[in-house]
Amino acid sequence: MKASKIIEEPVYVTRPFLAPLEEFQPYLEKIWESKWLTNAGPFHQEFERMLAEYLGVEHLALFANGTLALVTALQALRIIGEVITTPFSFVATAHSLLWNGIKPVFVDIDPETFNLDPNKIEAAITPQTTALLPVHVYGKPCDVERVQETADLYGLKVIYDAAHAFGVKYQGKSLLSHGDLSILSFHATKTFTTFEGGAIICPDAKTKKRIDDLKNFGFHDEVTVVAPGINGKMNEVQAAFGLLQLKHIDKAIARRREIDAQYRKDLSSIPGISLPALPVDTKYNYSYFPILVEKNYLLSREELYEKFHRYNIYPRRYFYPLISEFPMYRGLASASAGNLPIAHNLSRKVLCLPIYPNLSNEQVSRVINVIRGSTS
Ligand SMILES: *Cc1c(COP(=O)(O)O)cnc(C)c1O
Repeated sequence: MKASKIIEEPVYVTRPFLAPLEEFQPYLEKIWESKWLTNAGPFHQEFERMLAEYLGVEHLALFANGTLALVTALQALRIIGEVITTPFSFVATAHSLLWNGIKPVFVDIDPETFNLDPNKIEAAITPQTTALLPVHVYGKPCDVERVQETADLYGLKVIYDAAHAFGVKYQGKSLLSHGDLSILSFHATKTFTTFEGGAIICPDAKTKKRIDDLKNFGFHDEVTVVAPGINGKMNEVQAAFGLLQLKHIDKAIARRREIDAQYRKDLSSIPGISLPALPVDTKYNYSYFPILVEKNYLLSREELYEKFHRYNIYPRRYFYPLISEFPMYRGLASASAGNLPIAHNLSRKVLCLPIYPNLSNEQVSRVINVIRGSTS
C-alpha cells in the first residue's frame, strides 16, 4: 500500500507499441532509394497482401485513416437517405454519414454487448433506410447473424465500423468478413497502428477495384475518372510501418491479454465495480478494458475519474458523451435520451482502464489500487 502521494510517471489509457527504431531504418532506406512515396508503392502492395493474410480476409483496400475509409465505404455502396447506427461509439461513425448527406438514425444498444440491439433495429426502419452501420464496440462482436437477417429482410446494406476489431475472430473466422464492408482504423491509439491509417475489407476483387478508384480521386486508369473520388491513399511510410507492426502484433496482443486477466482477477470482487464479460466463441484482441462504476461503489464515476487524475493515471470515459448528445445530432428525433436509455445509462458509468503492451505489472497494480480504495 502506498501512503505517500508521490507523483509517479503518467499512465495513459493507451500507448502505441513501437518496435525498436533500428528495425524501421531499413524500410526508410528502401523508400529513400526508390523515391516511391505514395500511390500504391511497393510497401503499400506488400502490406495489403500481408495484412489480408494476417486477418484472414480475401481483399482489403488501405486508407490514410479510418474516417476516410468510412466515408468512402458509404460512397462505394451508394448509400443515401437514412442509416441506422449506434450512439455509443466514437463520433467519426456518425460524422461519416453527415459527410455523405445521410441522416443518422440512432438505435439503442444491447446491455450485454454494448452494440446495436438487433431487437430494436426493425422499429427504426423507414422507406428512406438504405443501410445499417453497427460498431463492434471495444472489438466485441455485434450479433452479426441477427443484423444480417434484418438487413436481408428489408434489402439493406451492412457496413461495420470495425475500428476496434483488428484481428478479432468470431466462430473461427475473421469478424471482418461479415456485412457488405468493414472498416478498420490504424490510428495511433488503436491496437494496431500505422500512425494514422485505415482499411476497408472488401468481399471481392471488383469491389476492391471500385474502392481503390474512389480513394484515388476516382481514377480508373490514367485517363478515366469514374467518380468524384477523394484522396484517401495510405503512403509508403505508413505502409512500411504497418509491415513492421505486423511482425510484433501477436506478442502485443498476448501482453494485452495478460493485463486483461490481471484486472479481471483483482477487480472482480470489488463492490460496485462490474466487469463486462469477454465475448464468447471469439478470439479477442483485448483492445479496451471497460469497467462499470455502479451506484453502490464508494465514489461516483466522475469522482473516480478525478481521483485517477490525482494519481497521474488517465483512463477514458469511452463513450461519453454519446454521439447523439453532440450539437449536430441532438436535434434528431432518434437522439433523445428516452430513445436510448441503455446507451445513456452506460455512458454515465463506463470507464476504460489503461491497457497497452508496454504497461508494466507495477502500473497495472497502481490502477487497481486506486479502484480498491487502498489509496485515498
Ligand atoms: C478511431 C475510430 C474511428 C476513426 O478512425 P480514424 O483512423 O481515427 O479516422 C472510427 N470509428 C471508431 C469506432 C473509432 O474508434
